[in-house]
Amino acid sequence: MKHRVLVVEDNLANRELLCDWLEAEGFEVISAENLDQGLAAFTIEPPQVVLLDVQLASEDGLSLARWIRQEPEMRHIPVIAVTAHAMVTEQERVIEAGCNACISKPIDFKLLSKQIVRWLGHAASLLPRS
Ligand code: MN
Repeated sequence: MKHRVLVVEDNLANRELLCDWLEAEGFEVISAENLDQGLAAFTIEPPQVVLLDVQLASEDGLSLARWIRQEPEMRHIPVIAVTAHAMVTEQERVIEAGCNACISKPIDFKLLSKQIVRWLGHAASLLPRS
């Protein structure tokens, strides 16, 4: 079964680039361009991993990460943040908000691939064994 990835990114070109790459990598992709659409994606069928742009136009992308971490049904879902700022302070802000990893733009797809595999495996290890 394909893993579902939710991409939350306000920039159309970046969003298409990410979605195309993820589909080519064999993921099922859902995308959102703002917080409302991102939240709505969880009510339909929660994703197994979230790629979250930290700056969504005027909205703070990290508020979605904080919401995920407070929801008992969702809190195990890995969130990989994507940011335009590579500074250590930005990385700390992202991790404090509950994200598992922080990747800076322009995206290194090899690194992103490693992070997705790593955190999908981590989330799977948290599930009860049947
Ligand atoms: Mn953005």
